[in-house]
Amino acid sequence: MSDVVHSAVIVRPRAVRAARCGHPWIFRDDVVRADGVNAGDLVRIVVEGGRPMDWAFWSSTSKIALRRLGLDADVVPDDSTWSRLIHRACQRRWGSVPAEGACRVIFGESDGLPGFVADRYARHLVVQGLTAASDRRLEGWAAELIDAAEVDSILARNDPAVRALEGLRRETVQIVGETPERIEIQEGPLRLIIDPWRGQKTGSFLDQRQNRIELGAMARGRVLDVFCYQGHFGLHAAAAGSEVVAVDSSAAALVLARQNAELNGLRVEWVEANAFDDLRQRAARGERFDRVVLDPPALAKSRGDIPAALRAYKELNLRAMRLLGPDGILITCSCSYHLSEEAMLDVLARAAADSDRVFQLVERRSQGRDHPVRLGFPESRYLKCYVLQAN
Ligand code: SAH
Repeated sequence: MSDVVHSAVIVRPRAVRAARCGHPWIFRDDVVRADGVNAGDLVRIVVEGGRPMDWAFWSSTSKIALRRLGLDADVVPDDSTWSRLIHRACQRRWGSVPAEGACRVIFGESDGLPGFVADRYARHLVVQGLTAASDRRLEGWAAELIDAAEVDSILARNDPAVRALEGLRRETVQIVGETPERIEIQEGPLRLIIDPWRGQKTGSFLDQRQNRIELGAMARGRVLDVFCYQGHFGLHAAAAGSEVVAVDSSAAALVLARQNAELNGLRVEWVEANAFDDLRQRAARGERFDRVVLDPPALAKSRGDIPAALRAYKELNLRAMRLLGPDGILITCSCSYHLSEEAMLDVLARAAADSDRVFQLVERRSQGRDHPVRLGFPESRYLKCYVLQAN
């Protein structure tokens, strides 16, 4: 269904300055008037005392009041607009992974569909919406996605906690077809089992897919995969011939990790533990590894968390550095978008100094190509992945 009535939301001129740099969010402080606007409405943004500047989705409760669509202010968006955006995003991904592989086909603001992501696992799509606007349009978007992403089923994992900030229900809903309990996909040389209904996020962390394929395969000697989830990094390393120990605190994740190892005929030592304690104990025992992968969950979930998160990242990285043998390599990641590259590199430099070793920064990586960054929207470049080599 297309939206019929389009209200205007009046914003302060200063909101335009951020918009000129490409930033798609307008915060509630910059809204002057929003008469008769309901959560999820498509609205015209008008600068106070000026002319229409763009279209946006309105949110009634979140601090982000308007999510701009970056469309021509003079053309009214309708169903054909969503269809075009969805087909364009899917076509751009198409060909980058095998048909039985997995990739993100819609990446929110970067693809012009704010607060909405869609991950394809072979013939099945798992979507996640964070706004009233995407909830309201879900059926229409799903009909386009079935066709554009060439899938048989769509599951909505609308269960993340942040939905509460928008006053939205947390639920997992079958939208189209039947999504199985388990989906088998190909990732590089590996077959992997995905749990779309109960796995973390949409079932897998696809933002790390390219890093796992390219960096995991370069593993040598003894490898420690910390925060391993269902073991994907470690399994790539094991497939490359390494002896792998993998650690995660989630028993459910490790059940699938074990099944993945079996499916690929690989041996990995799986350890259910708190990573902070596990690293400390290994260091105390004098263990040594040739490669350590550190991929913690977002430790800074909001700006207020930054000081504590900086301490936690420093501690984790220092402990990991102490475990590296000569010429050892640390692959260290942060998916906190509140933490800048500079802040993360500073943490790493301080951890390296405390470890009394010199490290080379061999490579600075980010999320995979199926998570394209929208220029002017730094929040869309959230994943940092550094390859550090010890002396
Ligand atoms: N490297 C993984 C993704 C890791 S996501 C991949 O490429 O698929 C972060 C993981 O950290 C989750 O699996 C979560 O269960 C785990 N985790 C969170 N807190 C932890 C802790 N304190 N100790 C160990 N694991 C933890």
